[in-house]
Amino acid sequence: MEKRIPPGKRLRVYDWNCMGCMACANACPEGVITLTDVGAKRVLRFRHNCENLECGRCAEACPEGIIALGGTAEKIGERASVIFFDLARCEQCGTPFTSRRILDRLLSELFPLLKSKPEELSWLRLCPECRRRKQVEESIA
Ligand code: SF4
Ligand code: SF4
Repeated sequence: MEKRIPPGKRLRVYDWNCMGCMACANACPEGVITLTDVGAKRVLRFRHNCENLECGRCAEACPEGIIALGGTAEKIGERASVIFFDLARCEQCGTPFTSRRILDRLLSELFPLLKSKPEELSWLRLCPECRRRKQVEESIA
């Protein structure tokens, strides 16, 4: 998708293509970007007034290129953007484990390659714990 990110003077997140992948929150050393899973929802919160914009780790980490940083932080108070994601549930145990957008994208990108092996696609619908369990079960079967 074409990226149309205008220059900014603060942290901006252009959320039309945000996948809820957590890379930015994991990269941020200041807690400006936070992520919380609550039940079957993922909540990403981006404070706009990062005062360390030259750090740039969030923008580097973002696989979608939708975080814009620029100039010096303005005095813009505590405004923030919040993005809510539905979490996909594990097909085996029902635990929410990844953002629905990530899972849908993986399935759509891998479907053409794996449509003749539906069992390979079914792995993607399992949480890490159920994948491990299934792997162990298959290795001793
Ligand atoms: S520029 Fe650095 S400190 Fe600021 S939000 Fe991004 S990762 Fe966090
Ligand atoms: S790294 Fe990018 S795509 Fe992933 S959650 Fe952050 S803004 Fe969204």
